[in-house]
Amino acid sequence: MKLSKRIQKVKPSATLALTALANKLKSQGVDVIGFGAGEPDFDTPVQIKNAAIQAIETGKTKYTPAGGIVELKQAITAKFRRDNGLEYKASEVTVNCGGKHSFYNLMQVILDEGDEVIIPAPYWVSYPPMVTLAEGVPVILQCSEENGFKLVPEQLKKAISSKTKAIVINSPSNPTGAAYSREELEALAGVLQGKDILIISDDIYESIVYDGRRFVNMANISDALKRMSIILNGVSKAYSMTGWRIGYMAGEESIIKAVETLQSQSTSNPTSISQWASVEALAGDQSVIGDMLSAFARRRKIIAEGLDAIPCVSCRKPDGAFYAFPCVSEVFNMRGWAEIAAKYKGEFNSPMLCSYLLDEAKVAVVPGIEFGNDNYLRLSFALSDDQITKGIVRIEEAIRKLL
Ligand SMILES: *Cc1c(COP(=O)(O)O)cnc(C)c1O
Repeated sequence: MKLSKRIQKVKPSATLALTALANKLKSQGVDVIGFGAGEPDFDTPVQIKNAAIQAIETGKTKYTPAGGIVELKQAITAKFRRDNGLEYKASEVTVNCGGKHSFYNLMQVILDEGDEVIIPAPYWVSYPPMVTLAEGVPVILQCSEENGFKLVPEQLKKAISSKTKAIVINSPSNPTGAAYSREELEALAGVLQGKDILIISDDIYESIVYDGRRFVNMANISDALKRMSIILNGVSKAYSMTGWRIGYMAGEESIIKAVETLQSQSTSNPTSISQWASVEALAGDQSVIGDMLSAFARRRKIIAEGLDAIPCVSCRKPDGAFYAFPCVSEVFNMRGWAEIAAKYKGEFNSPMLCSYLLDEAKVAVVPGIEFGNDNYLRLSFALSDDQITKGIVRIEEAIRKLL
């Protein structure tokens, strides 16, 4: 069977593939340390699990409205008010099968063939393929480490064309951990204001920010910017609920309605049980977020300082999220690199370095090229302090062999 042109243009998620490979090695008894996972390592909090169990026991196991139950929509609008100071009506929010699905649905309802979506790089691996699947064109803008991996107004101005339909802002970012300040967002808003461009704010890491930073998004800048924005969020990262598959979005009613129409003809409702668990997550005790944050803050210091001390590797501390994004471009100039490149024979450097680290150090990390920059690696720090420390020692040993 000949497959569609559409699906032939995309490849499987590299981060999910890497996690699968690391798990396979582990199951074969190899002591692999996995820095690949894009999910918190904590268990889902018990009160959230109990809400799901209660939903099962009370028969909340049937179809729900395609865009989610009223109770969850209310919990979401209350969350926006409480955490973000933003007012939305229930008709301006909808629930999807994970934040990834929210983005996918959004692309399907806003893009026509050839429409452009501006994506700052390094970017989350799934944005460009989801744009492509909707026949849109990803317009990738490289953001340098000197600019904190953030988009600057000049760059944005130059990239806007008559085909620009949307721009994606993911702050804090996966993979760089960069978070925009209010001033930085205001500067970008100055370029976008008055244009017919949808601002897609992926806030999935909003609760994971360090050093007392306060989370802010484009909708916080002004009412005009709020009207131009769609906020994407979900329970996966904040409440360690990746497997439950609940994401949500808020914004212009006509877009929300279109997403619900699409969903009614594709997935139908997100799992009813997960929706009830998410009501508890969003409306219940929020202290779980703080507990996770303090563990992440401790690990962030261990990993960023540990990586930065390795020869030919430099690593800044991320502003948020749970990823370290070290620069490894100097490794590719090391004496021993030619031999590694000859052995793994790849088109790009970062995947060859990852293969070397997996073989030599039994450490799984994700190549930067997957996020749009070959000079970097991504290491998740959603693993224990001990594992992080052990993994860094192994990476250091493997890299020292190239000196
Ligand atoms: C994890 C993640 C999401 C959403 O994940 P879901 O599990 O699908 O809710 C969205 N955006 C980014 C950048 C992420 O890293």
